[in-house]
Amino acid sequence: MQQETLKKGWHFDNSYAHLPQTFFTKQGAVPVQSPKLILFNTSLATSLGLNAEALNSADGAEVFAGNLTPEGAEPLAQAYAGHQFGNFNMLGDGRALLLGEQITPQGERVDIQLKGSGRTPYSRGGDGRAAVGPMLREYIISEAMHALGIPTTRSLAVVSTGENITRETERPGAILTRVASSHLRVATFQYAARWGSIDDLRALADYTLQRHFSDIAEADNRYLLLLQEVIKRQASLIAKWQQVGFIHGVMNTDNMAISGETIDYGPCAFMDAYNPATVFSSIDTQGRYAYGNQPYIGGWNLARFAETLLPLLHEDEEQAVQIAQDAIAQFSELYHHYWLSGMRSKLGLFNEEAEDEALIRDLLELMEEHSADYTNTFLELTFDTLKGTPLFDTSEFAEWNDRHQARLGRQQEGKEESQQLMRTSNPAVIPRNHRVEEALERAENHGDLSVMEKLLAVLSNPFAHSPEQSEYAELPAQCNTSYQTFCGT
Ligand code: AMP
Ligand code: MG
Repeated sequence: MQQETLKKGWHFDNSYAHLPQTFFTKQGAVPVQSPKLILFNTSLATSLGLNAEALNSADGAEVFAGNLTPEGAEPLAQAYAGHQFGNFNMLGDGRALLLGEQITPQGERVDIQLKGSGRTPYSRGGDGRAAVGPMLREYIISEAMHALGIPTTRSLAVVSTGENITRETERPGAILTRVASSHLRVATFQYAARWGSIDDLRALADYTLQRHFSDIAEADNRYLLLLQEVIKRQASLIAKWQQVGFIHGVMNTDNMAISGETIDYGPCAFMDAYNPATVFSSIDTQGRYAYGNQPYIGGWNLARFAETLLPLLHEDEEQAVQIAQDAIAQFSELYHHYWLSGMRSKLGLFNEEAEDEALIRDLLELMEEHSADYTNTFLELTFDTLKGTPLFDTSEFAEWNDRHQARLGRQQEGKEESQQLMRTSNPAVIPRNHRVEEALERAENHGDLSVMEKLLAVLSNPFAHSPEQSEYAELPAQCNTSYQTFCGT
């Protein structure tokens, strides 16, 4: 291995490239004119065993732009096929390349992917590129999600390419380096089931088991266990989204990772006022991926996953369908369990009472009725600062508050302990849309990164409840229910 590569800390071991050839196309990135690093994630780089100092440089910009391939990398575009807004399509990495799998000093294996790296055989009509704004946006929101304790892909770097791309207008181009525990998706299995042989499907399932679920990889009923584990991870993940008011925006099956990480930050956004019908995505005109629908769509996507596994679940098709249906039926129960337990924590509850769910749902109903801000209402409950808000001044809330106080009184833990639980369950800050837009505007149009850097710092410890965070909890001057986000930019 070259000295240069060693110095930068790359340690690739590319297992995906050993899957049957149908799952990928080997190719390099399309070079760009003049790459410049805009953001570099020093702490993530260090935790991956990379030499942050050596990579936070002009040389690093060449690597993260795809102009320079580090030794040991074997760039490839992954094939997948899945449901977009309910319609089945052949997809694949149309604007991304897997550089390879980095083995971290802790022995973990992570994908290093360039997003926006040029056309591939899966690009369909697209240009294979991405714009600065949306790549910075993915960086901000994925890192915020990580800090909130929600499983997610991470962002290692954003480079500007020095080339413009054409969207509604000309926009400066960029490439994001994404780090994921893998890019295996429900859609990878759909691709295998639709176009691969049974051997291809089995190879993919066995690979997935080895990579993510090694403790069950040798079990006789391993494919059923795989299905059950994926269901469990998604139930837990989506419950976490609901608890922080995160709306993914495009829960197509290619955007559901088998690892249970949140993936593909396109039209995602956080909800301000509580309303289950909240949608930000410009193209989601039917509200398919609205906040309140996310758990149902999760179940729908998992049913598509289960279908792909049928030939592995049982040789008799009818029995295979029965096994899959039984597994899928578990999803809503698991989701409900995770959701309820997370919401109890948000209200400072340690033990369980049958009436807890009604207590939670009644609060949400009041919040909806009074357009109360989701994040801030829980913060105000935590610090007892609700007084003066429109919600507080209602008699219904006073009644609810009495019930909550009485409920807190019926557990062993005292007031301080329940406040502590609420502090660690209710974030002081989320990436509010107006703050994200302000940071992007300064960066994209003025080349000023200071606003974004400050925002990233504030978001990096959302449970600090520090004085600097309070201004980031403020709501936009104007209600922004018409805020729109976009796909494929
Ligand atoms: P997404 O909505 O980001 O999940 O993308 C859906 C599919 O479209 C994936 O297969 C992407 O790789 C592909 N895609 C999105 N944008 C582009 C683009 N500009 N050029 C080529 N393919 C794209
Ligand atoms: Mg996608």
